[in-house]
Amino acid sequence: MKTTEKKDIRALTKDQLREFFVSQGDKAFRGNQVYEWLWSKACYDFEDMTNISKETRAMLEANFVINNIKVDRQQRSNDGTIKNAVKLHDDFVVESVMIPTYNRTTACVSSQVGCSLDCKFCATAKLKRLRNLNPDEIYDQVVAIDKQSRLYNNRPLSNIVYMGMGEPLMNYNNVLKSIEKITSEEGLNMSPKRITVSTSGVPKMIKKLADDEVKFNLAVSLHSARDEVRTQIMPFNAKFDLASLREALEYWYAKTKKRVTYEYIVWKGINDTTEDINALVEFCKAIPCKVNLIEYNPIDDDTFQQANDNAVAQYMNTLEANGITVTLRHSRGKDIDAACGQLANKN
Ligand code: SAH
Repeated sequence: MKTTEKKDIRALTKDQLREFFVSQGDKAFRGNQVYEWLWSKACYDFEDMTNISKETRAMLEANFVINNIKVDRQQRSNDGTIKNAVKLHDDFVVESVMIPTYNRTTACVSSQVGCSLDCKFCATAKLKRLRNLNPDEIYDQVVAIDKQSRLYNNRPLSNIVYMGMGEPLMNYNNVLKSIEKITSEEGLNMSPKRITVSTSGVPKMIKKLADDEVKFNLAVSLHSARDEVRTQIMPFNAKFDLASLREALEYWYAKTKKRVTYEYIVWKGINDTTEDINALVEFCKAIPCKVNLIEYNPIDDDTFQQANDNAVAQYMNTLEANGITVTLRHSRGKDIDAACGQLANKN
C-alpha cells in the first residue's frame, strides 16, 4: 500500500489550520484551539491536547506529524552554561546553548545544519551547510532553553541570540517566521528588543531586514575593516566587500534608527596593528554602533591565536578616544566547547 507522507502541522498558518477544520466539517474555532496547543503551549503530542475530542485527535494523528526537536544530550559547564545537542526529526543534529549570567538567561540558537559560509576561524564552518532549519525547529530550541532556565535558574529565559550554528540571513524567511512566533502573543510573547540576530554581513539581506522594518537587534561579525584582511579570514568578503556592507548598514540605520553591534576578535599577527585599528574606527563612523571585542576560542587550527592584552587594550583605548562604545566579552562554556565558534557537533 502506498503511504502518503504526513504534513508537518506547524508549517500551517493559523488561517490554514482553521480552513482545514472547516474542510473536515468541523468548526474553524477548532483550528484556534489546536494552534494554541502547537505554539504557546508547545505541545508535541496530539494525545495531550485535552480539550480536543478523541476522534479529532485521531484524525489529526492520521493527517499530520509534529516534527519537534529532541534534546539528545546536555553538557553542563562549570559556569552554568549548558550545551544541548538538538536532534531534528530527520536525525540531523544542531547545537543550542543556555547562557546564565547573574540577572539573565540567554539562549543561543542555531539557524542552519552546518553553515553556508566559510569563516576560517569558526568550527561550524568546517561542516558544510546541510539544510536550513524550519521556524518550528528554531522555536523549539527557545522553548527547551526556557524550560532549562526555569529548572536550573528559577527564572524564565530573558534574551535570545541567533549566534549558534549557521548564517541566519541565509535562512531569512524561516528565521523571521521563528521570531514572529517567539514575539507573538500566540507564541512566547517575548519582546523583540531582547532578540539579536547576528550575521557575517550579507548586504542584500541587511537591506531586506530594514525594508521589513524588523524590531529586533542586529549584530555583524566584522573582525576586520580592511578588505585584504577580511577576505583572507572570511572569504565570502570577496563577494560582499566592506563597501557594500557599509552601504547596507547605512541603509539599515536610515530606516530603523537602530544602532548595530560589531563583533570583533583581535588575533595575533592578523588584525592587531594600528592600521587595523584605524580602519575599524573609520568603519565605525558610518552609523551609530557599538563594538563588542570577543575573546577568541581556539578551534583545532594553529593559524589563529588570541592577540595579547596590549593589542586589545590599544583597540579599546583608540575606540573610546573616538567616542565609540566598546565592550569586552569573555566567552562562556569553553570547557564544554559551547563558546562562540566552537559549535561543531564534536560528539
Ligand atoms: N553566522 C553568523 C551567526 C554565528 S554567530 C555570524 O557570523 O554572525 C557566531 C559568532 O561567533 C560570530 O560573531 C563569529 O564571528 C564568532 N566566532 C566564530 N568563531 C569563533 C571563535 N573561534 N572564537 C570566538 N568567536 C568566534
